[in-house]
Amino acid sequence: MKIYRARYGGVCFGVKRAIKMALEAAEKWKRVYSLGPLIHNRLAVEDLQKKGIITVSHINEIKNKKVIIRSHGVHPDILKKLQNNGFEIVDATCPRVRRAQRYVEMLIKEGYYVVIIGEKDHPEVKGLLGYGGDNAEIYSEHVAIKKRKIGVVPQTTLDLGHLNEVVSNLMSNVLEMKIYNTICRATNSRTKEAVRIAKKADAMIIIGGKNSANTTRLYQMCKKYKPSHHVESVKDINLNWFKNIKSVGVTAGASTPKEQVEEV
Ligand code: SF4
Repeated sequence: MKIYRARYGGVCFGVKRAIKMALEAAEKWKRVYSLGPLIHNRLAVEDLQKKGIITVSHINEIKNKKVIIRSHGVHPDILKKLQNNGFEIVDATCPRVRRAQRYVEMLIKEGYYVVIIGEKDHPEVKGLLGYGGDNAEIYSEHVAIKKRKIGVVPQTTLDLGHLNEVVSNLMSNVLEMKIYNTICRATNSRTKEAVRIAKKADAMIIIGGKNSANTTRLYQMCKKYKPSHHVESVKDINLNWFKNIKSVGVTAGASTPKEQVEEV
């Protein structure tokens, strides 16, 4: 069977950088705590835990006051709380996410009402919202935004087509709109390539955590073109999927380690 393997699949620069920083911190301090999983991949998180990188969901669970901020960034109130309480902080916020946070701050200073486009429960989006304070909200198709001046900042892993749709919806109610296209190049390249492969292959395998938003989006995108399967590891593969097909495309989300891709 012919296999089309994506060149852009797998762990992105921001997640790789955060893991490297966390491993260095764990080596120095023996243990470092991450507020939420460092990477949206269950198997990788289990592996990191063995190396001293412990996932917690609340500051109170941090036992040694050593914390890593993951690539998604964090709400500024949480950062302040950590600083005010004497935590040692390794800030692994992806520079591209940090840039999006700065755009939100700039828009607020310039008097725009900020609309963040992305998944409302995603940590990056919650963090961006924090930088906008009371003058920002997360876009919802069910709520009309009626403001004179709005600034738009998308989540870094948003699909460009979705950004275009939302911008044209918002346009009908505003006088002025300023858009920062903060969609990450890694996301764009990965999505475009996955679609290109899905068009020519008979089926698609998308590797990544079931809790990874960008992997799920890749899967949804691919299944518009061909039968597609979202797997976390090689154990999830069912050989019946490949009966009567001649080719399969393989891609992976931004939080899927290389070893998991190789194994599949
Ligand atoms: S997808 Fe892009 S912005 Fe998000 S963490 Fe990875 S490199 Fe950074």
